[in-house]
Formats: sequence, C-alpha cells, structure tokens
Amino acid sequence: PKGIELLRNPDFNKSTAFTEKERDILGIRGLLPPKVHTIQEQMMRVLENLRRKPNDLEKYIFMISLQDRNKTLFYRVLLENIEELMPIVYTPTVGQACLEYGHIFRRPRGIFITPQDKGRIVNILRNWPHKCIRIIVVTDGERILGLGDLGADGMGIPVGKLALYTACAGIHHSLSLPITLDVGTDNEALLNDPLYIGIRQKRLRGPEYDALLDEFVAAVNHVFPGALIQFEDFGNKNAFRLLNKYRDKVCCFNDDIQGTAAVTLAGLYSALRITGGALKDQRILFLGAGEAGLGTGELIVSALVAEGVAEEEARRCCWFVDSKGLIVSSREDLTEHKRRFAHDHPFAPDLLSAVELIKPTALIGVSGRPGMFTPEILATMARINERPIIFALSNPTSNSECTAEEAYRYTDGRAIFASGSPFEPVEWQDKKFYPAQGNNVYIFPGVGLGVIASWSRLVPDEMFYVAAKTLAQMVDKSDLEKGRIYPPLTRIRDVSLRIAVSVAEVAYRRGLANLPEPEDLEAHIRSLMYYPDYEEYV
Ligand code: NAP
Ligand code: MN
Repeated sequence: PKGIELLRNPDFNKSTAFTEKERDILGIRGLLPPKVHTIQEQMMRVLENLRRKPNDLEKYIFMISLQDRNKTLFYRVLLENIEELMPIVYTPTVGQACLEYGHIFRRPRGIFITPQDKGRIVNILRNWPHKCIRIIVVTDGERILGLGDLGADGMGIPVGKLALYTACAGIHHSLSLPITLDVGTDNEALLNDPLYIGIRQKRLRGPEYDALLDEFVAAVNHVFPGALIQFEDFGNKNAFRLLNKYRDKVCCFNDDIQGTAAVTLAGLYSALRITGGALKDQRILFLGAGEAGLGTGELIVSALVAEGVAEEEARRCCWFVDSKGLIVSSREDLTEHKRRFAHDHPFAPDLLSAVELIKPTALIGVSGRPGMFTPEILATMARINERPIIFALSNPTSNSECTAEEAYRYTDGRAIFASGSPFEPVEWQDKKFYPAQGNNVYIFPGVGLGVIASWSRLVPDEMFYVAAKTLAQMVDKSDLEKGRIYPPLTRIRDVSLRIAVSVAEVAYRRGLANLPEPEDLEAHIRSLMYYPDYEEYV
C-alpha cells in the first residue's frame, strides 16, 4: 500500500514513526504531524493513555483499538509490559469482554462460520486475506472460561489466545487465524439481546453439528494444509469427542484438556521441589472432573508410567469430586472418562468429607465454581499437610475456588498456591506471599511454536509431557524460595522457546515432522520468532 492506505493498514502502519524519507517516497508527506517519533516514544504515549482509563474493560477496548490501528506497536507494548497487560488482553478481563462482546463491538476480527455455511466453508476460509495460515484457534463458545455458553461472543477468546501466541512465542500474527463456529446458543439472555452478534437459534447438536465440524476440519486441511488447529472452550462433551475423533488424523489439540494438564503437572513438579515429595506418593484430589481435571489426571498418569510406575498404581494417585460427590466405583452415573479414575472406596457426598477421607497432599480446583475451597477445607488441608498444595485454577478471577489471601490465611501461610487468573501478592502477618499463576499461557504458545516449526503432522500427548517437564525445569531456586512455582511472565519468550525445542524434538523422534531436521534446532526456532519492530519501507 501507499499514501493514506498505508496509514489505515494496521499491518504496515507506523503512524508518527514514518521517517522523513518514507513520508516523501510513499506519498504521506503532510498526512502526519511533523515530529517523527520513535517506537519508544509511541509506547510512552500508549501507556500514558492506557493507565488513564477508568477500568479494565476500557483498557481492553483501548488495546484492541490499538491492534486495529498498528499491530507492531500493539505487540511491542504487550511484549514489554506483559505482566501489566496480560490480565487485560487475557484472563480475567477477556472474560468480561466476552460477556459484553456485542456491546463493545467495534470491528470484526477473525472468521465466523454458521450452520448456514454448510457446503461453503472452503470459500469462506479463502476470503481470509492471508494465505499462509499455520495456527487456528477455534471455539464454538459453549464453555467460555468458567462463564458458560456465550455463543458467538466467545470470539474474544481465540482473539486473545492468538495475541499471546505472538507476544509470548513470537509467532507472526499473519500466520494465525481466530475462528468462531457460531452454532447458536442456549443462553436466553443473549438470544434476547438486540446487540448480540450471533445467530438467533438454539445450539446445533447431533449429526448436523458433527457434519459441520467434519467439513470445517477438512476445509482447514484443504485451504491451509498442515495448519495446527487448537480447540478452545468447547463444551465438555464435544471437547472430548472432537479430540478423540481428530487427534490421530489431523494436527490438533485441545488446550483446555491438554494445555491445562501440562501447566498443572509443571506446577506439581515445582511444588514437590518445595515439599520434597515424589509424584508417585501424592494423593491429588481434583474438584471438577471435566476437561481440565480429567485431562490433568491422564497426563499425571502418563508421567508416572514414564517414570516406571504401574498404570493401576498411577491412577490411584488421582481422585476426583464432581457435582455429585467423590468419584468411586460404586457410582452408576459415570461417563467412561470419569470411570477410569473411579476407585474402590467408600463414597463421600461433598468436598470436605472427601478431603477428610482421602487426606490429599494436593487440592486442585477446576470446577468453574467460586468459593468451593472454604476456610474449613483449607484448614483441613493445613492440618493434614505441612505444606498443602492448593491450586485454584478456575477462570476468571470471579470463579476461582478461593482467593490467594484465603489460601494463605486459612493454612497459616503454609499453602503452596497457584491460581488460573492472577492475584496480587498478599501480605499476611508481616509476610509477603507471591501467588503463582497456573495458566496454560505458559504452555500453548511454546507447544504451538514447536509444532509449526517442525511441521509436525500430529500433536501427541508426549508433547505436553515434555512441555511440563521443560517448564518445571525453568523455575529457579530463587523463585521457589518466594513460593513461586512458575517462572516470572517476563521470561515467557525464553520459556516458549525451550518448550518449542522440546516439542519439536518429539516430532523428530517420532517421525512426525514434515521438515528435515535442522542442524541446530534451537537456532532454527529462534530465527522464526518475530520481534515487533518497525521495518524500513524505502
Ligand atoms: P467442564 O469440562 O465443564 O468441567 C467442570 C467440572 O466441574 C465438571 O466435572 C463438573 O461436575 C464439576 N463441577 C461443577 N460444579 C461443581 C460443584 N459445585 N462441585 C463439584 N464439582 C462441580 O469445565 P473445564 O473445561 O474442566 O473447566 C473448568 C474450569 O477450569 C473453568 O473455570 C475454566 O476456566 C478452568 N480452566 C482453567 C485453565 C487454566 O489455565 N488455569 C485452563 C482450562 C480451564 P459434573 O461432571 O458432575 O458436571
Ligand atoms: Mn480455555
């Protein structure tokens, strides 16, 4: 583009940073104020305006508008201020943005596909301006964070995840594509909201839903061969079904099942460095036996089996409480996925009685229900364990099973705590505690980078196991001393690079890679990582 079009194109726009020479040659002399600014000065302006916004939703809107104007500047600001901005472009604020998506809507982003598009999905994908797409994040909006069915308003999630792929793993934004399969919603409030952006119908289910998904996956393979499909925030039943159906056929994974599992396993490895225990000796009790819980349970089992423990024994390390109580073999209402963790054991109707019976060393909340880790439950964990491991992973913050402050207060400051959404450091009895953020943002950017760098045909579970190990290895002694069981977010690009290397190694070891193995894998992957800075156009 040239002239005014250049200023309107967010992929190329540099705004006041266009040089004198560019202004002359590209026909934009006079269309900008005279002062040529550096990107650092532009960042100062962005941050000043951002911090003036009265609330986080306004900050989100401001950041998205910046992404619409100038992508280079957006990603640079995000990368350099990741701790401040992650909670804005991702959980928790992205949750609020999805709740109000139709109301704050400015410009479309990504691709929307509806049941009316049956038979023409290939054509729709071809409408996308970029032809080389390597990563797709797709949702059908049925289980957005812990907020439930938000229909097409769930688009905020794929958009946010892909922004993190670029910021955290350096995958160039032109290589990725957010997609919402708008198959309707069962959310009455949205159906009655005149500003709702989706189709007005109940959720499509059954064979027609499956046929639409089949056509979608085939269309992606046709238009963007070899692209990685990340399934995100699908409802529980479809999430497991779709993963089982496609995982051995196409390059895909489910972040809620597999990504969460890896970040949780890494957190456990770190926590065990503090307690001095071995994974095989733990009794891990999950509140919630859904995508996140069962996915984590299965990864823990694979990890233990890899370490030489018999599968039967490995399964007995993991215990689950769902909405009906403790999962035990006498229950007759269990899905096949839950049954694999149903042990011969007396039933307990609720979490507190389950904690008393099982005496867990770790309690992991993935229920999407706030306040479930009551003071009494936390105190019981502290009575059973010198250093109780407490992970309250449900998102956004409003759904966390307990707050960081509660976790420290009711365990006499002995909890090793992580939460899915960030909490501020807590001061309690003259001590300062640094809650860790157990969020899959530590995992999926690196996994995605490793997969696309090696052109892996599939995403086997082993990739999440090595990702967890790698992440855990990157936690320093000094982090652990502060109770931080994950590396600081400021190291996220380094974390993603190392995870990508270990993931690509799996692709080569297993013969899944479609690219000849580079001599120096790390250098190869590093060279693919995009750093947001202005290019010279003349
Ligand atoms: P899901 O598949 O719908 O599973 C939810 C599970 O919680 C189900 O097993 C459900 O029981 C159980 N549950 C609901 N209410 C309960 C209650 N009152 N008592 C006991 N159990 C209850 O959802 P998911 O995908 O696993 O996600 C769950 C939460 O994890 C969400 O808030 C999500 O944001 C969070 N998450 C966090 C991360 C992270 O990176 N930190 C990643 C992914 C997900 P039934 O089976 O009986 O219905
Ligand atoms: Mn998710």
